[in-house]
Amino acid sequence: MVLKDMEYKVKYRNIKYPRLEFKTGRLELILPFGKNPTELIERHSRWINKKQKFITDCLKDAKDKEIFERDKKDFKILVNTYIKDLSNTLGVNTNKIFFRKMRTKWASCSSKRNLTINTLMKFLPEYLIEYIIYHELVHLIEKRHNDRFWELISKRFKNHQKLETSLFHYWFLLNSLERIKKHA
Ligand SMILES: [Zn+2]
Repeated sequence: MVLKDMEYKVKYRNIKYPRLEFKTGRLELILPFGKNPTELIERHSRWINKKQKFITDCLKDAKDKEIFERDKKDFKILVNTYIKDLSNTLGVNTNKIFFRKMRTKWASCSSKRNLTINTLMKFLPEYLIEYIIYHELVHLIEKRHNDRFWELISKRFKNHQKLETSLFHYWFLLNSLERIKKHA
């Protein structure tokens, strides 16, 4: 990969140190004002190439993945049903549920037990939607990704590693499609 031909986006912010990100599959440089991107790209070219290869591989693996079309209302009903059922199963309580587009993750839960659902999830197969919700709810019991956490996950999803990989593939696939991003 010739780095100077690679597409990337530059954002300038009031920060001290530059950051390189690949969150949605395309390289983004977040730079302090006045900083030139070229030098940073040269300096981190190995890391950039490695990341780029990982994403290219993900997209290759993802190319025969099915993209599901659900309308927003059906998606919300599906999510709320899983949250109710799986909260019962795990014996946890959630507070508020938010739906919004997120750039860096499928879902998150806060210390106030609020759940935020990435609307990009509506294009996933149902078993992955179920898995993401279960994963977040388990975080209400165990915050970190430690042994205890994966033990709880394994009770319902023995194949969680495969599911996590699949979610990586879908992430870069969906984020590479403008049509999808617009309608999430
Ligand atoms: Zn997690």
